[in-house]
Amino acid sequence: MRDLYDVLGVARAASQNELKQAYRKLARAHHPDTNPDDPKAEERFKEISAAYDTLSDVEKRKAYDQFGASGGTSAQGFDPNDFRDFAQERGFDISDLFGDLFGGGRRRTGGSRGRPRTRRGVDLETRVTLSFDDALRGARVTVPVAKDGPCGDCAGTGAAPGTSRSACPDCGGSGERQVNQGFFATSEPCRRCRGKGIVIETPCAACAGAGQARRTKRYTVKIPAGISDGARIRVRGKGLDGEHGGAAGDLWVVVQVLPSERFVRRGLDIIVDVPITFPEAALGAEIDVPTPLGERVRVKVPAGSADGKLLRIRGRGAPAQSGDDGALLVRLKLLVPQGLSTQQTEALERFAALDGASDPRAELFG
Ligand SMILES: [Zn+2]
Ligand SMILES: [Zn+2]
Repeated sequence: MRDLYDVLGVARAASQNELKQAYRKLARAHHPDTNPDDPKAEERFKEISAAYDTLSDVEKRKAYDQFGASGGTSAQGFDPNDFRDFAQERGFDISDLFGDLFGGGRRRTGGSRGRPRTRRGVDLETRVTLSFDDALRGARVTVPVAKDGPCGDCAGTGAAPGTSRSACPDCGGSGERQVNQGFFATSEPCRRCRGKGIVIETPCAACAGAGQARRTKRYTVKIPAGISDGARIRVRGKGLDGEHGGAAGDLWVVVQVLPSERFVRRGLDIIVDVPITFPEAALGAEIDVPTPLGERVRVKVPAGSADGKLLRIRGRGAPAQSGDDGALLVRLKLLVPQGLSTQQTEALERFAALDGASDPRAELFG
C-alpha cells in the first residue's frame, strides 16, 4: 500500500485545496472511461480516489497521519489490516474509516476482529451473434456490459464535485449510537447517517450520493476463427470487481452463429450439397464446388457415384483451435433428367435395353 500523499503527489503539509487540485488532475487522467485500453487505469483510479477520500476528510486525514504511514507496525508503510487491528485494540472504531479502500464493501460483523475476507468478483455473461462467415473467419466484436462502478462525476465519494464528505456529527463517524436499556448498553445504527458514519452535505447529482453509477463498458473481444455455435469465450478479469482485494470476475461471451443458406456445420466439418447430373454420376467428372470462404475448388467425382455420396476435401472445413482443420464434405445430389426430348428418350431406352438383364429390386423379394 503506497503512502497516500505519494499517490496524490502532494506534500504532507498540502492544503485541502492543493489536495483537491492534485486529485482532480489525476482522476481525470486516469479515469477508466478515458483509458478504455489500459487495464491498469481502473486500479490507479481507485487508488487515487481512495487516497483522496481519506485525505480530503479532516478526521480521516488526522487518523491517517497519526496511525497510517508513521504509526504502523511495518516498515514498508501502511498495511490496512495492521492499522485496523491497531486501532481496534485501542477501542477506536475505524470500521468505516478505510472501508472504501478495499473495494467499497463494508462488512461490519458485530465487533468481530476478523479481517474482511477477499471475495472474487461475480462472473458476467453476454451474448454475441455472428454470421456463419464471420464465425469461420474470426472476428472482433464489441460487447456492451452494464457494470456498477465508482461514479465518474464524484469519483465514488457520493459528494458533489468540489464538496467533500464529512464524519457524521451525530455519531462522530462511528455509525453507531449507544442506547441504554436498563443495565444494558447496546448500540444501534446511527439514524442520521444510517450507520455509514459519514454524511454528504451536497450529494453528487449524477449518482444521487450513492457513489456508484451504472455504466456501460464496452469491451472488444477477439473471436477466434472457426468458433462454433454455443461456444463460450472467457475474458479474464472483465466481470464484476472483487471485494476487499479479491480478483475481478470473468466475462463470458456466449457465441451464437447464424445458419448459412448453403453450408451446414458438423463439428469442424462443413457439408455442402452439390447437384450432379446422371451422366456425371455414372461416368465420373471433375466439378467445381464452392468453399465456405467463397473460393472455388475442383473435385473429382468417381464414376458410378451414388446420390448422397460424400466427397471429402481436407482442410476446407472450419479452422481448428488446435490440430487439423475440418474438411469440406461435398454431398452429391443426383439430378434425375426431366422433360426429355424424343432423342434423349430414345437414347435412354437404348441404354435401358443394354442394361436390362439385372432387376435392381430382386433382393427385396428374396
Ligand atoms: Zn456521483
Ligand atoms: Zn451517524
